[in-house]
Amino acid sequence: MNGNNKNEGGNVLIVGGGIAGIEAALDLANGGFQVFLLDKSPAIGGTVAQLDRLFPSQGPALCQVSAKLDALSRHPNIRIITNSHLERVKRVNGGFEITIRREPLRVDEKCDGCGACIQVCPIKQYDTFNEGLMLRTAIDTQNSMHYPALYNIEKETPICQETCPVHIDIRRYVGLIAEGRFEEALAVIRERNPLPAICGRVCNHPCESACNRGVQDEPIAIDALKRFVADYELKLRREGKIPYPKPTRKTKKARIAIVGSGPAGLTVGHDLALRGYETTIFEAAPVPGGMLYLGIPEYRLPRDIIEDEVEYIKNLGVEIRLSAPIGPDLTIDDLFKQGYKAVFLGIGAHKGLKLKVPGEDEFEGFLDCIVFLRRVNLGDTTKPGRKVVVIGGGNSAIDSARTALRLGSEEVSILYRRSRREMPANPWEIEEAEREGVKIHYLAAPIKILGKDGKVTGMLCTKMVLGKLDASGRRAPIPVEGSEFEVESDLIIPAISQEPDISFLHEGHGLEISKWNSFIIDERTMMTNRPGVFAGGDAVTGPSTVIEAIAAGHRAADSIDKFLR
Ligand SMILES: Cc1cc2nc3c(=O)[nH]c(=O)nc-3n(C[C@H](O)[C@H](O)[C@H](O)COP(=O)(O)OP(=O)(O)OC[C@H]3O[C@@H](n4cnc5c(N)ncnc54)[C@H](O)[C@@H]3O)c2cc1C
Ligand code: SF4
Repeated sequence: MNGNNKNEGGNVLIVGGGIAGIEAALDLANGGFQVFLLDKSPAIGGTVAQLDRLFPSQGPALCQVSAKLDALSRHPNIRIITNSHLERVKRVNGGFEITIRREPLRVDEKCDGCGACIQVCPIKQYDTFNEGLMLRTAIDTQNSMHYPALYNIEKETPICQETCPVHIDIRRYVGLIAEGRFEEALAVIRERNPLPAICGRVCNHPCESACNRGVQDEPIAIDALKRFVADYELKLRREGKIPYPKPTRKTKKARIAIVGSGPAGLTVGHDLALRGYETTIFEAAPVPGGMLYLGIPEYRLPRDIIEDEVEYIKNLGVEIRLSAPIGPDLTIDDLFKQGYKAVFLGIGAHKGLKLKVPGEDEFEGFLDCIVFLRRVNLGDTTKPGRKVVVIGGGNSAIDSARTALRLGSEEVSILYRRSRREMPANPWEIEEAEREGVKIHYLAAPIKILGKDGKVTGMLCTKMVLGKLDASGRRAPIPVEGSEFEVESDLIIPAISQEPDISFLHEGHGLEISKWNSFIIDERTMMTNRPGVFAGGDAVTGPSTVIEAIAAGHRAADSIDKFLR
């Protein structure tokens, strides 16, 4: 807003439309100033307008306020701006330049006040004007105590939506499901999440941990509801009752290359296809989906679910080339030479970290969890070993142990150096693993791999105690002197962490790489130090979650679009 009304006294902005703001507005306007009265709520009047009677006169509050509101509304020098926030104040030439963000007052500018939107509005929220004592629809007209009497949309961001990394409008979709409007609910989810059936199964759902209902009894089953509507649509599609989406019209000239078909790469392809770009995903593996397919076991995430959601994205016009690694034969430079105008690196974190204990490279029977799960997920279902020990406490450790058990290993245990409290795996996964027969040894760590005739026979381990908090915010494990013990095993699966495998980069690639072998990017633009080369997902953060990778994909797609325009 640039106040350019040339009043005698100049322009004045008053922030807050309570009784003090109203009085000040009237005084200043009467003194010849042009007054802008700003309030973040849909109506002015503040607390006084909410009261019944005023002390000491005991007169009805409305009678006293309404006279002032009337004067305000008629005053030629006063402009009321409601449902708006003061966003920025900048000093300019001895005055101020003010930026105001206005929230929408109606669904559509063609609004003729018919009120149909109020009838169908699915969002019921606590009415702030009535101090949350009753519900209102997000779009509403004010009651008789409100001024100005306009349609307004009041919708604060609920904590669950804020916590979800992609900020799905959870309240809206849960409300639509409650009303049986399943297709509409899924459309709301798809606004921010291109993989709803997958997330409905494996998302770590931070939204539920934040859900206020959890204080009362238990959180709303946000993730399970997402799975329900996604599966509902899937069923209809499989029965031929609804089709896959049609390819989007290619309205943009620029082509974009995406390296990796994990959730980050798929999201970039999805978002840019919807914006009219031609996108090609280059995937090194023979299957699409990244860790969804190569890491997460089938019993947690059925393959037909991955295939269907990938098919959905392909139908929008995203090309996926499988067994097509970017590497020595096709470099990032080659992609630019082939005419791609931007490249997104979503290669994930597929290189297991070493335990750094003696003997780990000496014996057969030592297999990193990523290699193990990848083999199984690509079809190798041979029994991995008789006595299997997995080292680590994350989801990949739990998945490896449960997979070994399913493939027929007789004894499967997990060795974790901290206590259960610090274990990063999802608590429900830990419980399920224990119920299935996986033994978890807490506060223990290997110090040497033992072997005979070139084969692993077990490990020398030590007990640990927890010391002070370390850089990760958890208590640091410290070995207990003299507590060594042996564990028998014919297969050891380290699952301690992963980093991006950047061995595909050619000499002189010019990309800035961190000490964890991840890509360094500008957090705001998701661009690496090379113009036109973007990166996101586990390739930047290290091992994280599906929904964080999707969030990174959205940010990168936005940024690529801006870069190309
Ligand atoms: C065992 C396991 C279980 C997990 N369980 C969960 C869970 O329950 N919930 C959850 O939210 N998260 C889970 N995660 C984490 C989650 O899977 C990842 O955070 C997520 O998949 C990262 O997505 P991304 O797109 O960044 O990378 P990825 O999914 O890793 O995809 C990267 C893709 O890039 C490809 N690629 C690599 N290099 C090249 C190259 N040079 N050329 C072409 N392609 C290349 C890879 O083959 C891969 O397909 C789990 C991870 C593992 C390992
Ligand atoms: S994607 Fe995950 S975090 Fe977001 S709403 Fe769904 S379950 Fe919650």
